[in-house]
Amino acid sequence: KNELAARSRTQIRRRRFQDKLRESYERSLSMALIDSLTGLYNRRYLETYLKGLMDNAVERRKPLALLMLDIDHFKAVNDTHGHLVGDKVLKSVAEALINSLRSVDMIARIGGEEFVVVMPDTSEEFAEAVAERLRHRVSETNVYCDGVEEPVTVNISIGLTMRTGDDKTVEDLMQRADKALYGAKNAGRNRVVSDIPEAGPETG
Ligand code: GH3
Ligand code: MG
Ligand code: MG
Repeated sequence: KNELAARSRTQIRRRRFQDKLRESYERSLSMALIDSLTGLYNRRYLETYLKGLMDNAVERRKPLALLMLDIDHFKAVNDTHGHLVGDKVLKSVAEALINSLRSVDMIARIGGEEFVVVMPDTSEEFAEAVAERLRHRVSETNVYCDGVEEPVTVNISIGLTMRTGDDKTVEDLMQRADKALYGAKNAGRNRVVSDIPEAGPETG
């Protein structure tokens, strides 16, 4: 009887230890991929995943659209209402974005108030419509915060690009979208600017 009790205790201890290990493994795994503030994917995950999507688009000769989004004058939100309100706005923007996308699209928060949306099998026309929809949805989002009378609202600027046969790396695509975003900021913000190069010969 004693031996049975002792063995059971050992087995239970072992099991608890294994559960703890797995829990901590799963937590660090998700921390490596997920942005903890918004629950969206992070930059690291985006870059890995995007590489796969690009390869896939090349192989199947399908279009791939990428949007780079940045909240306009976000610093002013923090300066006016404080960092906590800023965080709440970020979460609400993330939610508005994810609710306006299809499940095949992927979205990541790649920096402070910057997001990337990747849309597989998506034409230029469709991508432009989606970008406009995202821009509207965000601007219509009211963020109610304790101690702030009026709901806080923000706008976003968007740079849009499409993968071409000349794009070799994820960076090529991201850089072009970033340039388009810069153009949207310079043109007055709260708008979509596209940078879609003439398609080179499809290689790869
Ligand atoms: P622009 O229209 O040119 O994009 O102006 P901006 O103010 O949005 O851009 P800027 O790059 O000057 O400021 C970005 C701000 O985002 C600065 C920083 O305080 C804020 N920010 C970045 N990450 C976070 C975050 O996790 N939480 C909060 N609350 N603010 C953040
Ligand atoms: Mg900004
Ligand atoms: Mg920014």
